[in-house]
Amino acid sequence: MTGARWTAATAIDAPGTPETEWARWDGLLRLPAAALPRGPVLVVAAHPDDEVLGFGGTMATLSADGNDVHLVSVTDGEGSHPRSPLVSPAELTVMRETELEHAVADLGLPGLRPRRLQVPDTRVHQHEGEVRAGITAALRETGAVLCAAPWTGDLHSDHEAAGRAAGAACLAAGVPLWLYPVWMWHWAFPGDERVPWQDAARIALPPEASTRKQRAIQRFTSQIMPLTASEGDAAILPPEELAHHMRPFEVVFR
Ligand SMILES: [Zn+2]
Repeated sequence: MTGARWTAATAIDAPGTPETEWARWDGLLRLPAAALPRGPVLVVAAHPDDEVLGFGGTMATLSADGNDVHLVSVTDGEGSHPRSPLVSPAELTVMRETELEHAVADLGLPGLRPRRLQVPDTRVHQHEGEVRAGITAALRETGAVLCAAPWTGDLHSDHEAAGRAAGAACLAAGVPLWLYPVWMWHWAFPGDERVPWQDAARIALPPEASTRKQRAIQRFTSQIMPLTASEGDAAILPPEELAHHMRPFEVVFR
């Protein structure tokens, strides 16, 4: 997800909503089911892990059903540990590329290689035109019948900019867009009025897809474990954060 510089720092830095609270809320159970398409699907991620956290179970399901899944990585995620005394952004790029490769293999997509736009991490909003062009090209090349991208209201600048760029590209190409939240599960709460629940839909994950997703998430060791014992190297995604992404369903805004 990449930490530190948020659109609304206070929303992300504050303690998050425990997964037990989400689990108690019947609002998630009442969401309409999203019907999965038949045909190629293009998934956009701001950082290498967003796609697995927010949409990985659906990626696994789509693939198991025989659909092609394609991926655009907007950044390489090199900015996740800006205060790390020991691990450089260049090293993080390599680490995260390898983690993603293993994670998508766990999803059942062993040959999937992302189209990397290599936009600077934390600066996606300054490169929206370039991102839009990259997504437009990917939509054309893949013949995607659906695109999924980070939610434009996620309160993370890179996620929102990637979602907006995908929105512009999909509108011009006439391709439907689903927006998946990532950080929302941290800062929002059940019934939160900042969330467009009326646009939300639920994708139930078959047990195998759910298991695949949970396994894939464990591949992101640079994000879920402390990078080193140093202060700037704390885990970006501690267990209480990961809990939101271990559910047997995913939610998108349409
Ligand atoms: Zn992210």
